[in-house]
Amino acid sequence: MATQVRHNISLKDRTTFHVDVNARHWADFSSPEELVYYYRSERWTAVPKLVLSGGSNVLLLSDFPGLVLHPAIRGIEVVAEEADSVLVRAGAGEKWDDFVSEAVRRGWHGIENLSWIPGYVGTSPIQNIGAYGVEAGDVVEKVEYWDRKDGKSHVLENRSCGFAYRDSVFKQALRDRAVVTHVLFRLRKAPGFVLTYPDLNAALSGETAVTLARVREAVIRIRKQKLPDPAQLGNAGSFFKNPRVDAEVFQTLKMRHPEIPGFFLDDGGVKIPAGWLVQRCGWKGFREKDVGVFEDHALILVNHGRASGRQILTLAEKIEASVADRFGIRLEPEVTILT
Ligand code: NAP
Repeated sequence: MATQVRHNISLKDRTTFHVDVNARHWADFSSPEELVYYYRSERWTAVPKLVLSGGSNVLLLSDFPGLVLHPAIRGIEVVAEEADSVLVRAGAGEKWDDFVSEAVRRGWHGIENLSWIPGYVGTSPIQNIGAYGVEAGDVVEKVEYWDRKDGKSHVLENRSCGFAYRDSVFKQALRDRAVVTHVLFRLRKAPGFVLTYPDLNAALSGETAVTLARVREAVIRIRKQKLPDPAQLGNAGSFFKNPRVDAEVFQTLKMRHPEIPGFFLDDGGVKIPAGWLVQRCGWKGFREKDVGVFEDHALILVNHGRASGRQILTLAEKIEASVADRFGIRLEPEVTILT
């Protein structure tokens, strides 16, 4: 079995940062069997591989000398139905927001707050995508993946996925091993809206009856207002994770910087918005040649046109250093950096 392999492919429009690098080879895979073919066939076994979905959370630093594998496994099907929920199996190659749109259309609750997030279904558990108080890990029941190391297919239950803030086992122990092929989501038939975030709460405050469609519309409207469209301005959303500190550390910071915001977490720690820290260090709207920080949101690094991955990374490192210097906090990239 061989699907079509293309050669010398520009990746400029294959990642949302629009960094101008190339891949030596490119192939879509539309089934787990096609994926396995590239790892087993004599022609491709020894060739280095990179699995790239929507490219919305990666920064590429250089040309990729091997084969890029792009998930194109499609399909959204109900595999089980209970009185109050449905279990939906979606292919890794479904666009995330198409899946959310379909869920809203069919009256399935649970992912409406995750509307308009770029990327694919297959990467949603890897990054444990989150927005407005909801994370993929809240609704993922199982993840089906193929393991590059043992050459076998596996199904991982939610409790074994290691879901944490923008993190999972797929970014830790299974990094560079698991290729997600399908994700199973448990979605509710009845509402249970999460409207705790101020922007979303305010957008729906005048509503007499909140519905799935209204929440989706509001999230899309807010995101479009606040975040740059990658088609117009290269970016990968939030570049840094929101750091977490101990409550005592937060109290000390609060004494030195009384206006510092913090959200107290169930584990006793405190989450500090990284965007606030970056903005306080004066980076919002910064630009040097074609690399910069978005003028309306300090957490978003942008490519104004011809920035290289290296230039974007250099700016990220300068930002990290200034935040560390001023607040003693080490920022960590949320974006995956590929050398
Ligand atoms: P925002 O509403 O301006 O809030 C700033 C930060 O404060 C967020 O990072 C959020 O943390 C935190 N926060 C706000 N209200 C909170 C609450 N009630 N409880 C706990 N934490 C709270 O944030 P924004 O930049 O416009 O983003 C809105 C949502 O979309 C956030 O959840 C954000 O993570 C998500 N988003 C994700 C990306 C991405 O690339 N991954 C890009 C843009 C936005 P959290 O980030 O932990 O939620």
